[in-house]
Amino acid sequence: TYTIAEPCVDVLDKACIEECPVDCIYEGGRMLYIHPDECVDCGACEPVCPVEAIFYEDDVPDEWSAYVKANVDFFDDL
Ligand code: SF4
Repeated sequence: TYTIAEPCVDVLDKACIEECPVDCIYEGGRMLYIHPDECVDCGACEPVCPVEAIFYEDDVPDEWSAYVKANVDFFDDL
């Protein structure tokens, strides 16, 4: 799955939402989140993010690794 990391916080540009073919990117509080079970790993969202906040899960920079879990937890808590 793809995940959204810290650069999205307080930005919420939403260009990714327009791009996602399965509508699995949701707004929540201060950032956007990708639903890990709905994402089809197409990669369409990654290049359109103006702040480069989106990464394939294996490519998330170490300092933002907690965001992988945060994306999962966001939907668990709904
Ligand atoms: Fe949506 Fe594709 Fe991005 Fe997954 S990788 S969130 S399916 S645009």
